Amino acid sequence: MILKSGSHIWHPFTQHALQRQMTKVARAKGAYLYAEDGRRIIDAISSWWVVTHGHCHPNIVRAIQSQAESLNQIIFAGHTHEPAEEVAALLLKLAPAGLDYVFFSDSGSTSVEVALKMALGYWRNVGERRSRIVVMEHSYHGDTIGTMSIGARGVFNAAYEPLLFDVTTLPFPVAGREQATLDALDAACREHDAAALVVEPLVLGAGGMLMYPAWVLREMKRICETWGGLLIADEVMTGWGRTGTLFACSQAEVSPDIACYSKGLTGGSLPLAVTLCSAELFEAHYSKDRARTFFHSSSYTANPIACAAAKANIDLWQTDECSERVASVSWMQECKIKPLRSDERFENVRRTGTITALELRVRDAGYLASVGPKLEAFFRNRNLLLRPLGNTIYVMPPYCATAEDLGEIYAAIQEAPEAVQALGA
Ligand SMILES: *Cc1c(COP(=O)(O)O)cnc(C)c1O
Repeated sequence: MILKSGSHIWHPFTQHALQRQMTKVARAKGAYLYAEDGRRIIDAISSWWVVTHGHCHPNIVRAIQSQAESLNQIIFAGHTHEPAEEVAALLLKLAPAGLDYVFFSDSGSTSVEVALKMALGYWRNVGERRSRIVVMEHSYHGDTIGTMSIGARGVFNAAYEPLLFDVTTLPFPVAGREQATLDALDAACREHDAAALVVEPLVLGAGGMLMYPAWVLREMKRICETWGGLLIADEVMTGWGRTGTLFACSQAEVSPDIACYSKGLTGGSLPLAVTLCSAELFEAHYSKDRARTFFHSSSYTANPIACAAAKANIDLWQTDECSERVASVSWMQECKIKPLRSDERFENVRRTGTITALELRVRDAGYLASVGPKLEAFFRNRNLLLRPLGNTIYVMPPYCATAEDLGEIYAAIQEAPEAVQALGA
C-alpha cells in the first residue's frame, strides 16, 4: 500500500511517487478554477488546451442541458440526429475547401487513427500499394499505439516500441533550414510512394510548442500533390483559434486531404472529435461491395449531447466577439512576451496566434529536465495552472483571459528562473 492520500485513481502523465497530492477542483468559470480549499487558480493552459471560450460558457452549458433532456445517446450506424447534422454542415462551411465529409469520434487520438485508416483504406480501394506514413520530427498525435507510432519516439513510448510501426521522419523545419525538411519530404515520397504525410500545422504542441511558418506547410502540400501522397492535418490542438485563425491550415491557404479536429470542438466541455476528408476518400469506400466499408466506430460516436455542445461552440465562432477576443489575446500575448525576447535568462521566445512559448536556459534541457517539476510547483504556489514541457514554458489561455490575468502569469514567469534556482535547479 503506497498511496497515502487514500485515493486509488491512477492519473494521466503523473508520476505518483513524486506527486502525492492532486489539486481538487470544485468548480470553474471563465479563465478560473476554484479549488476545494478556496483558492482561485488562473487556467493559463486552457486545461490541457481544450477550453477556448472559458470554463462553463453559459451558451454551451444551456445547449448541453437542453439536449440531455431529449436525446442523450443513440447508435450512429444507420441512425442520425439533428445536432450531428448541424455540426457537420457548419464544419464543412468553415473548414478549408476540399473537405466534404465528416466522420465523428470521441478523442483527438481516435480522430488521427481514423485519418490513418481512411488513408490506408483509400489506397487499398483504389488499388495502389501505398502504406508508408511520413511524419515530422518532434510531432505528437496521441497516446494510442497507432498515434505513438507516428509521433516522436522517446521516454513516453520506449516500453511499447516493439508494437510501433515504422515511419519516415522529416527533420523539423528549423528557421533557415526549412529546405532540408522539404527535400526530405520529396525524397521520402520518391523512395516510398508515401501514403500520407501527417503534420501538426504551424505549431507542434506536446513536442515543445515548436513553431514554423505557413509557407513551409504550403510547400509540403505542394510536394504531396506532386507525388500523389495525402496530406493529413492534425489540427487537434491548433484548431479553434489557437494560431490566430479558426484553423491553422486556412492561414496557410492549404486544403488538406484529411483534417482532424477535437480539443476545442466543444469549447472544451465534452469529449468529441471529427475527421474531415475529401470526396475522393469517401468515394473510394463507396461501393455495393460491403468489403469496402469504412470499418470504424466507437460506442459514443457523435454523442448528441457532445454534438449539441459543438454546435453551441460553432455558433459562438460566428459572432464578431469571438474573433475579436482571439485577436485581442494574440495582441496581449505579444505585448507580454516582447520584453522576454531580450532577456538572457530565456531563449527561443516565440508566439503564433494566442500561443507563446520560451525555453528557460538550463544545462539539462528536454522533457525530463529537473527544472520542469520545480517550475510547475512554483507556478502552483502562485495559483497559476502552467505545466511546462521540461524547460519549455508556454502560455495558452482561454480567450476570455484578461490583461490582468496575463499580467499575473507573466509576472510569475519573470520571477521563475531565480525562484527555481533558489530551489536548487
Ligand atoms: C492532444 C493531441 C492529440 C490527442 O488528443 P486526445 O484527445 O488527447 O486523444 C492529437 N494530436 C495533437 C496535435 C494533440 O495536441
